[in-house]
Amino acid sequence: NTVRMQAIRDVEAYVPPAHSFDESEAPGEVFGENVFSKSVMQKRLPKSVYKSVMATIEKGAKLDPLVADAVASAMKDWALEKGATHYAHVFYPLTGLSAEKHDSFFEPTPDGTALAEFAGKTLIQGEPDASSFPNGGLRNTFEARGYTGWDVTSPAYVLENPNGNTLCIPTVFVSMTGEALDHKTPLLRSQQAMGEHAERILTLFGHSDLEHVVSFCGPEQEYFLVDRHFFLARPDLMNAGRTLFGTKPPKGQEFDDHYFGAIPERVLGFMMDTERELFKLGIPAKTRHNEVAPGQFEIAPMFERGNIAADHQQLLMTTFKTLAKKHGMEILFHEKPFAGVNGSGKHVNFSLGNSQLGSLLVPGDNPHDNAQFLVFCAAVIRAVHLYAGLLRASVASATNDHRLGANEAPPAIISIFLGDQLADVFEQIAKGPATSSKRKGIMTIGVDTLPQLPTDPGDRNRTSPFAFTGNRFEFRAPGSMQTVSGPMVTINTIMADSLDYIATKLESAVANGLDFDAAVQELLTEIITEHGAVVFNGDGYSDAWPIEAEKRGLANLKTTLDALPELITPKAIELFAKYGVFNEREMHSRYEIGLEQYALTIGVEARLTLEMGTTVVLPAGVRYQTELAANVAALRAAGVEADLSALEDVTADLGALRAALGSLKAALGHEGEDESTLAEATHAREELLPAMSAVRAAADALEEIVADDLWPLPTYQEMLYIL
Ligand code: ADP
Ligand code: MG
Repeated sequence: NTVRMQAIRDVEAYVPPAHSFDESEAPGEVFGENVFSKSVMQKRLPKSVYKSVMATIEKGAKLDPLVADAVASAMKDWALEKGATHYAHVFYPLTGLSAEKHDSFFEPTPDGTALAEFAGKTLIQGEPDASSFPNGGLRNTFEARGYTGWDVTSPAYVLENPNGNTLCIPTVFVSMTGEALDHKTPLLRSQQAMGEHAERILTLFGHSDLEHVVSFCGPEQEYFLVDRHFFLARPDLMNAGRTLFGTKPPKGQEFDDHYFGAIPERVLGFMMDTERELFKLGIPAKTRHNEVAPGQFEIAPMFERGNIAADHQQLLMTTFKTLAKKHGMEILFHEKPFAGVNGSGKHVNFSLGNSQLGSLLVPGDNPHDNAQFLVFCAAVIRAVHLYAGLLRASVASATNDHRLGANEAPPAIISIFLGDQLADVFEQIAKGPATSSKRKGIMTIGVDTLPQLPTDPGDRNRTSPFAFTGNRFEFRAPGSMQTVSGPMVTINTIMADSLDYIATKLESAVANGLDFDAAVQELLTEIITEHGAVVFNGDGYSDAWPIEAEKRGLANLKTTLDALPELITPKAIELFAKYGVFNEREMHSRYEIGLEQYALTIGVEARLTLEMGTTVVLPAGVRYQTELAANVAALRAAGVEADLSALEDVTADLGALRAALGSLKAALGHEGEDESTLAEATHAREELLPAMSAVRAAADALEEIVADDLWPLPTYQEMLYIL
């Protein structure tokens, strides 16, 4: 009677929660219900206060303290009406998760009652005792104070709980000396830098009275769902988020029958429920579908301003976790929960623009607009080519290492896919003025010698890490578990650098009285000639690509440990400092934290492998061995010739398992002896990972021969196909 058998019985007996669909509610009615949105502010704030807040949100104006008091008071009243008893500054520490510190609105008064208080200064700044978050050497424990500061541009919201609601305020988290301890601070800084230089270029193209240019992000989130009974019977899923043992199921994803297939009823119920909750929080959940692997799904909210998309993405993940449990399931955000089965990514769709001009990555209707579009595209090409290593480092983690480079996710080599049409245009630009096109009739030669472009580039390339998709670039390497902030900070900063470079060149050409169009043409030719090597429209999964990429001088940083040092090269430190995103200490701190998280993740997995191998897998094998031995003895006693092959097989596999466990134990024994984080991380990659693989190989071999009723762990088959 194994834990697994019990789990299977429990799954069979499970009754899903009664549906909560309210027929009287119009679809979409609840959207933004729990958000202190612009329209709520407009209704509740005096006109002058409202105007002042809007100026801060849209034009980046400094927030007046008197305004903060008025907003805090209106926010408090609104939240109390919504049943909130507490407020929380929500911040995004470098664990990659969200953190929150709750305070009650109510303060005791001398007459023995309590009064709801919420001052402007409490809204603007908080001081959580948050000394236990990773800081990579930025703080000593004796000066451990960290401050949270309100991000006015990301709306506050009320989070519901059956036992009482909380007003949540998205904030940055910085040290006493103002250094970033979180993901939001650099995101806001980088967004500002990028916007500033984009505006210089737009001014050159004749735009005036510009609204701030910001970055937009549309994150696509892939995830797995498993029945919670199975989850609870797998210590590896519970503690590491991925299976450390398990053979591939006889039926995998080879039929491609799951991709975009009918969504199972129970999963659909979960999706409906989550989307309604997300809607209440103002998160524009839009697309949902089955993914490639069995048990794998995707949600893609509509794109939003980068920092809001990042906050919403974190909130989406927490909402999903809570609601999956309600529906008797567990959600797995890990990049590779099941070996040999497709992993999960979080594609970051990136564009820049503002509400006046829309996305600046959209081809225009006339040659003049196209010149502007091509300039912004060229900025992306230059940025990705010069700083491919930083993009790679922005998605580096122990968990994402299992995915990048496998034939399902983009390779670890960072290249750009432009599509045939656009690649063709740039090829011609490289040769000089564009005069004709592959597909006649679509492009015409404009007066400015720049061609008119088709608005739909048509083709898609699923194997490229950075693909142009018509009105945006899609960065496909980020892992499903990570926050989108890291990649967005990098994209914004490297774009700031390219846009600055371009703006400076064009400004000086204009100042020298050169023809603007000719200067643009020359600049485009220069950029594509120098940086065109990063453009690759072929198959990123092919064996020929790494060889070709090497010839082109593109880096192939296979693991996290190869990628992280990119953060502390002089080039990187100079870049981030120049645009005010990170100072040198902050860069070193991020590097240290990256190493530390890598070593910690693998350390936990290694200890779990040892524990489960010793206490779960080995005993199952021994029981089966005993059963077989008893059978042999009984046959011999009865005078029947016994076949020893099964007994010999299990004995051999048990021998291999014991030996592998011994090696893993020895490798773990070295842990903690090394003084530097780099040495620990290297030990994890060089010693622990191979030792874990050996244990797994032996254990998986046993799974294939041990009697089914003795096998203690839910199998891949059960976890992936029973929903
Ligand atoms: P696909 O599967 O084709 O990549 P999805 O619909 O799954 O498309 O996801 C596309 C994502 O890209 C969505 O989040 C969408 O809002 C986002 N997106 C669309 N246009 C832009 C844009 N201009 N800038 C940033 N993101 C965008
Ligand atoms: Mg996509």
